[in-house]
Amino acid sequence: MLCRAVAVELEVTRELNRLLYSVESAYLGIVREVVAYAVKHNVTNATQLHGLFYSKYRLEYPSLNSQLVIQAIRQAVQIAKSFIARRRKGLVNKPYPEVKAVSIRFVVTTWSYEEFVKSIAPVRLELSLLGVRRVVWLRLHKRFWLYWWRVLTGEAELASTLMIKRRLNRWYAVFIFKLKPRQEVPQRVVAFDINENTVAVGRINLASTVGMVADWNRQYMVPELYAIKTDFGKLAKRYERIRNTIIKRLKPGFALPSGNYVNVANTREFRKHMKRLREEDRKLGRVRQVASELTKTPAIIITEDLGKNPQESMIEDIGKDELRHRIKQTPFKALEKAVGDKALERGSKIFRVSSYRNSRVCPVHFVRLEETNDWHTLYCPLGHYVDRDYASVINMNWKLTPEPWTKGVWWNLRKKIDWKEYEGKSNPIIPYEIVKYIHAALKTFMASKESPAVLARGCPMNHHRIQNEGGGEETTHALQGGEEVRSAQ
Ligand SMILES: [Zn+2]
Repeated sequence: MLCRAVAVELEVTRELNRLLYSVESAYLGIVREVVAYAVKHNVTNATQLHGLFYSKYRLEYPSLNSQLVIQAIRQAVQIAKSFIARRRKGLVNKPYPEVKAVSIRFVVTTWSYEEFVKSIAPVRLELSLLGVRRVVWLRLHKRFWLYWWRVLTGEAELASTLMIKRRLNRWYAVFIFKLKPRQEVPQRVVAFDINENTVAVGRINLASTVGMVADWNRQYMVPELYAIKTDFGKLAKRYERIRNTIIKRLKPGFALPSGNYVNVANTREFRKHMKRLREEDRKLGRVRQVASELTKTPAIIITEDLGKNPQESMIEDIGKDELRHRIKQTPFKALEKAVGDKALERGSKIFRVSSYRNSRVCPVHFVRLEETNDWHTLYCPLGHYVDRDYASVINMNWKLTPEPWTKGVWWNLRKKIDWKEYEGKSNPIIPYEIVKYIHAALKTFMASKESPAVLARGCPMNHHRIQNEGGGEETTHALQGGEEVRSAQ
């Protein structure tokens, strides 16, 4: 289920402000104490902790709604659990988690949920605070109304738990909307492949009716190939430089009497500087942009099955430290997740194919490609160059069709596959008609004289020649026709 959180500021009088503060401090106090106990005694069983603490806090805070006590204990359990898990992995260096702020959870009985969801235009709610139920007015905004409209049309549901949260002395209600996946007719097949600095895209537009396939204007059937610039690698490089400068500047302040230095990267000072740079925010912004671009129209989206830790398998045979670092900084998983989320929301469907040989085989001739002196460009022994990324996205498309299973992309598999087993079967996500269409489009692509040229993004000679550099740097929409068919040198 897809969730979206929407924060709405509360109209707060001085009296309400005081009330909210006291509820918050009681709630935070409970969370902190329970977390400290749980971590110290290594107890993370919710029932056990509830048994130990519930009556104690009911006595201590008699006017606090009992549900808030229960929720505070539950929240503490979650915090303690994740802290212990992180400690086990060696990711923490403090003995206890520092709980600085909490969002107070109001379950269905502690706020006016029933009335709220029945309303066409809710502008206020009621909260149970220290023995009294308070009316609270909301400062609603466009984003809230957008999701509320979806609730009214049945495309979304409002979760019954409400969170109240303070930030910079303002109070917010956080509503959680559960979105229902949309059902749409796919209009495109989009394959994408994530690289260090670009996302390569291969797009086939689908004819509105399958009957059109036969006499469909062939030029529309040829897959469009292009790359979206992300520059994750460049971004990482830049931040790496800034990072080093900051370390150099801070270092003198952290000299030990012995003449050694404290590891500056672990200091609070350093973290403060890094936070100001907002590297993660910037990266996330770009991730969202790409996800939005790929899911603009309802489509069948194809991507490689990345596995659990894509970076690790990629850097296996790369020696250079700097490049390893950059690949690690490429947000493969975040991008995949963002595309998945957006796809659900907008009625697209994701289909994952194996990454086996995607960028090793010529998608036109099904022969093994050879390396050139440019990492981006591969050479087909049948006499043309192929851009590594484009080969990859076209081959992903091939993997959806029945033909190449036995041919090219999968050939020479050590493991024998019984192809009869797959005969006449199509996968459940992609309707067979569409598979047929993709197949036809790819065949057209193979038959076209220009296609090998389309596949080559540029002459290997005028690239910046950086070996193993993992991403097309200078190409945004670099499609060119007809100039790159070169015979073997
Ligand atoms: Zn070829």
